[in-house]
Amino acid sequence: MSTAVPPGATPESPAGTPRLTVLSGPSGVGKSTVVAHLRNVHPDVWLSVSATTRRPRPGEAHGLEYFFVDDEEFDKLIANGELLEWASFAGNRYGTPRKAVLAHLERGEPVLLEIDLQGARLVQQAMPSARLVFLAPPSWDELVRRLTGRGTEPPEVIERRLAVARTELAAEPEFDATLVNTSVEEVSAELLALMRIA
Ligand code: 5GP
Repeated sequence: MSTAVPPGATPESPAGTPRLTVLSGPSGVGKSTVVAHLRNVHPDVWLSVSATTRRPRPGEAHGLEYFFVDDEEFDKLIANGELLEWASFAGNRYGTPRKAVLAHLERGEPVLLEIDLQGARLVQQAMPSARLVFLAPPSWDELVRRLTGRGTEPPEVIERRLAVARTELAAEPEFDATLVNTSVEEVSAELLALMRIA
């Protein structure tokens, strides 16, 4: 058996089968709602669980939405090279555990990361075959409405997230594809199609 990599492919992604998909976009655009719906429809899509120093929101559980860690533990994850990428976002740190992502890719399973723009750029550098998908709001006003309406963050945190969102929206051309979040069902179907699953 040959172990050669086909032309145009990289070891983590044989030609024509992009297996690592990165969904990014401004905070509040609805990334996690889209991902939750997609996983209901296709539970075989593996979603990486990130580590974060953010406090859990009501209803969030350790190991499900995130691995909630303190600053010291996060420092250790970085120092031990355990994160594929990490970024500071609105006062907290978030990172993708490397080992689990690589294990799923090695098994040929579709992997989805839901991360911020800085993280998406870092993944693109580390794994150029990754497919970067930008989730855009239908409009700026709608994004403000969604961020304000969540009601889980104090006003100064919302302000910080809106400032970040402004710069994130400008990064759209860096992505391989843009999906506009008009309907959760439509966007998750489009995302599955991009992942070549549906
Ligand atoms: P939230 O606090 O609303 O759950 O997430 C804030 C932002 O951090 C979102 O844009 C989310 O996509 C991003 N994020 C979540 N996990 C990661 C990660 O592992 N790495 C990076 N770079 N961003 C992440």
